Amino acid sequence: AAAEPKTIVVVGGGITGLAAAYYLRRSAEAAGLPVRVAIAEASERLGGKIETLRKDGFVIEKGPDSFLARKKAILDLAVDLGIEEELVPINPSGKKSFIVFRGKLHPMPDGLMLGIPTEIAPMLKTGLLSPAGKLRAGLDFVLPARKGNDDESIGDFLTRRLGREVVERIAEPLLAGIYAGELDKLSLRATFPQFREAELKHGSLILGMRRAMRRRPAPAAGAGGAAGQAGQAAQTPADAILARYKGAPFLNFRRGLATLVEALERELSGAEWRRGRKATALRKGAAGASDEPARRYAVVFDDGEELQADAVVVTAPAYEAEALLRDHVDCGMLRAVRYASVANVVLAFDKASFGREFAGSGFLVPRTEGRQITACTWTSTKWLHTSPPDKVLLRCYIGRSGDEDAVSLPDNQLIRLVRHDLEELIGVTAAPVMTEVTRLHRSMPQYPVGHVEAMRDFKRKLAEALPGVWTAGAAFDGIGLPDCIRQAKETAEAAIRELCG
Ligand code: FAD
Repeated sequence: AAAEPKTIVVVGGGITGLAAAYYLRRSAEAAGLPVRVAIAEASERLGGKIETLRKDGFVIEKGPDSFLARKKAILDLAVDLGIEEELVPINPSGKKSFIVFRGKLHPMPDGLMLGIPTEIAPMLKTGLLSPAGKLRAGLDFVLPARKGNDDESIGDFLTRRLGREVVERIAEPLLAGIYAGELDKLSLRATFPQFREAELKHGSLILGMRRAMRRRPAPAAGAGGAAGQAGQAAQTPADAILARYKGAPFLNFRRGLATLVEALERELSGAEWRRGRKATALRKGAAGASDEPARRYAVVFDDGEELQADAVVVTAPAYEAEALLRDHVDCGMLRAVRYASVANVVLAFDKASFGREFAGSGFLVPRTEGRQITACTWTSTKWLHTSPPDKVLLRCYIGRSGDEDAVSLPDNQLIRLVRHDLEELIGVTAAPVMTEVTRLHRSMPQYPVGHVEAMRDFKRKLAEALPGVWTAGAAFDGIGLPDCIRQAKETAEAAIRELCG
């Protein structure tokens, strides 16, 4: 008999789920394996955290606002989808950013890499640190590396190397901005393993990061070169993109990140969709209908439908994944990943009445400042595609792990408190011509200390208990969009290999 197609159900239509479905179909085709891919998304809208609002000439990101260019999985996907011509780089002249200290904006010292100083002179000059704080940071050059191989929190690590002042006033606002997290609780190994590598290899975080910083430019000559035989000819399309944008650290698409979601949706038009329906349970050993072979699993939906599956890829947040998997495997690792809630308020102003120039891309507000806003991005300066030329677009962030109450305030109160902080910090008194409030409840996974080992252990147990069931996405191995896409691709390839036996 002709081979019956294998059915694979992907749970979640965020970037991980959509990319996984795309790569499942591609890998299956390459392997000559007939498959049916079904994508289950609880919401009617695809994209998960990615949501772009296109309105009145603005391109407004309600979730992620760009991606790190150097992690190439996302560039490879853009090339595969034929949307690489839509890419836009961050505005190189809008780079300068600021940190609030005691109610005043201070320029971020030059030479920071992920919040870690790599140059001495700007650190000596900055008004963000006391003389004692600067001296303490200098101890990094002489302090021995910690012994042992266990994980620790980012906060413990950075305090140990650089002292509390650098952590609270510089590193925390920068790094916490990425994770909306508390540095004293986030796993170093799961978030910035390169910090620990720098310590081990160079005996100093500052020296190690300086080396990394110096290695970074010249993207065209990067690691991809080793793959080919004849030097220059080995450039991959992703390397070519990096070279074209001269190493811009962040990229987006002209019409926003939704471009990626829309392209995937187009590519996946032949897939089976379950939109607006939530997967509520996973059942083992599904007996197929009489005219169908038995499948290994059934995915049960909130409306009672059961979809038979040979393989399942779960890309939902940890707390949703747990509901599907806990009857079959120990889900302690999933429960340990807590989620912070955040909100952001986008404000648009008429340039003519705004009455203020701002040379930079925005500012960060350390936790110790005791304000509601955690950061403000000067979006129209940072991303030229986001706003008509006669407007100013700002995006203010609210909420971080352990400080999330304000996220639930009604729109008008959120707007009021953001405007209050903007007035106090940078003197903005103009009335916005448009506002857009977005709340992302339980949206930022917080990898706890020991996460990497716990995740490996969980994945091993999952493979034993439920062969053919996979997990991927922000809950697991990196929250950034490129990391989610990398996980999606790796998982899809592994799933197809397993199905091929
Ligand atoms: P999600 O996007 O959460 O998708 C999971 C999907 O599964 C959702 O659509 C959900 O509805 C669905 N689902 C859940 N349970 C079920 C179920 N039982 N049945 C069916 N469907 C279900 N990353 C960057 O790279 N750059 C940034 O600038 C950036 N900024 C960010 C700003 C914010 C405010 C947030 C919240 C995140 C940001 N991130 C950023 C991180 C990045 O956006 C996310 O990690 C990524 O989008 C997660 O994708 P995902 O597909 O793994 O999960």
